[in-house]
Amino acid sequence: MDDVVIIGAGQAGGQAALSLRQLGFDGKITLIGDERYVPYERPPLSKSFLAGDVPEERMFMRPAEMYDEKNIAWLKSTTVVRVDRQTKQVHLAEGQPLPYGKLVFATGGRVRKMTCPGADLPGIHYLRNIDDVHGFRARLTSGLKLVIVGGGFIGLEVAAVAVKRGCEVTLLEALPLILNRVTAPEMSAFYTDVHRSAGVDIRTSTTVSAFEGAGKVERVITNHGPIDADLVIVGIGIIPNVELAEAAGLAIDNGIVVDECARTADPDIFAAGDCTNHFNVAVGERRRLESVPNALGQGKAVALAIMGKPEPVTEVPWFWSDQYDLKLQMTGLPKPGDQTVIRGSITDRKFSISYIREGVFVACQSVNMAKDFLQSKKLIAARHKPDLAKLADSDISLKDI
Ligand SMILES: Cc1cc2nc3c(=O)[nH]c(=O)nc-3n(C[C@H](O)[C@H](O)[C@H](O)COP(=O)(O)OP(=O)(O)OC[C@H]3O[C@@H](n4cnc5c(N)ncnc54)[C@H](O)[C@@H]3O)c2cc1C
Repeated sequence: MDDVVIIGAGQAGGQAALSLRQLGFDGKITLIGDERYVPYERPPLSKSFLAGDVPEERMFMRPAEMYDEKNIAWLKSTTVVRVDRQTKQVHLAEGQPLPYGKLVFATGGRVRKMTCPGADLPGIHYLRNIDDVHGFRARLTSGLKLVIVGGGFIGLEVAAVAVKRGCEVTLLEALPLILNRVTAPEMSAFYTDVHRSAGVDIRTSTTVSAFEGAGKVERVITNHGPIDADLVIVGIGIIPNVELAEAAGLAIDNGIVVDECARTADPDIFAAGDCTNHFNVAVGERRRLESVPNALGQGKAVALAIMGKPEPVTEVPWFWSDQYDLKLQMTGLPKPGDQTVIRGSITDRKFSISYIREGVFVACQSVNMAKDFLQSKKLIAARHKPDLAKLADSDISLKDI
C-alpha cells in the first residue's frame, strides 16, 4: 500500500490517520504537525480550558501512546515547507524529505492579525493554540482591563470567561451588530443583552486604528476615542493555510479546492478541514467551513477515498458556542435575507430561530433548546418546506411539523 503523509496534526489530520487504521489500512502513516501536541480539540481553548475547568490532557483527541499503538508516526514540532508533486516528496524545515504515495493537506488556518500601528506591542494576543492560552490565561484576574477586538464567537466566549474571572471587559466590534455574519439580528441583540448584563462593555461600530503604550499595550485607539487596556485579545477570524498547496500547483479558491469526497484534482492528493473549499452536499454549494464536525467528517472522507471507497460527506453543517449558561447550537448555513421564525421565549433564554429560504427550512439556531437543534438537522437534510404557523408554535415539536 502507498505510504500516506498527512500535513497538519489538527483534528482533520488526526481523524484521517485514525480512520485509515480503522478501515484496515496497513501501509505507513506519517502525521506531521508544527505544534508540539498530538491532535487536540480547539473549542475548549475559548471555553472550559480557558476557564481552567479542563486540564490539558483532556484536550487531546486520543492519548499520545495511541499513535504508537496504531503505528502512526507522529512528527511533532515539524514544519513542511514544500511539496514536490513530480518526485512525490514533502520537504521539511529540517531533515530529509519524505516520500509519499498519498498526501493529505490538513493544514487548517492561522489567525488573521491586526496590521495597524502598535499591533506588535507586547500584551496583544491571539487565540488559536494551546500555547496561545498559556500566553495570557494567568493574567485574566480581577480588575484586569481587557479589550477584546472582534465580536464573533471566539471574542464573545473569551469575554464570558474573562468577566466571570473579574476582568473589566470591553469588546469592540467594527460592524453595527455582533455575530453579524452568522446570525439573525434577534440573536445578535440577545447575546448583546446577555453580555451587557454580565458586565461586558460591548461597543459596536467601533474600529481600531492603533494600539499605544510604552513597551507594552496600554491603550486601544478607536474611531470613538482611546480605551485603556492592560491586555488585548484579538479574534477577527482566520486565514486558511493554503500556500503549500498553492505552490504545489493545486487549485485554490478561499481554500484548497476538493470535491464532496475530499479529493483534489490530483488523484494522489486529498485535503480536509478548515483549509478546504469543498462541495457541501447538504447545502448544495461550495463552502469553506471552520468547524470540528466538518474537520472530522472530511478526515473520515479522506480515509475512505484513499482506501478506494470514496463516500461524500452528507452531514448537515453544525456548530456550537458556549457562553455563560447558554448553549447555542446551530445547524445549516443561514444567509442574509432568509426569513426567520422564532420559537420559544427569548426572555426565558430558551428559544430557537429557524431560517427559511424560498419556503425551504435551511438553518436553525437554538439557545438551550437541544431538541430543536437535533430535529432541525433532519428538516434541513430533507429540504423540508414547513408550515410557518406551525413552525412558530414551540408546543409543536419540529419533528411533527
Ligand atoms: C478558540 C477556538 C474555538 C473554537 N470553537 C469551536 C466550536 O465551539 N465548535 C466548532 O465546531 N469549532 C470550533 N472551532 C473551530 C475548530 O476548532 C476548527 O474548525 C478545527 O480545529 C479545524 O481543524 P483542522 O484540523 O482543519 O485545522 P487546525 O485545527 O487548524 O489544524 C491544522 C494543524 O496543521 C498545522 N500546520 C499547518 N501548516 C503546517 C505545515 N506546513 N507543517 C506542519 N504543520 C502544519 C497547524 O499548525 C495546525 O496544528 C474553534 C476554534 C478555535 C481556535
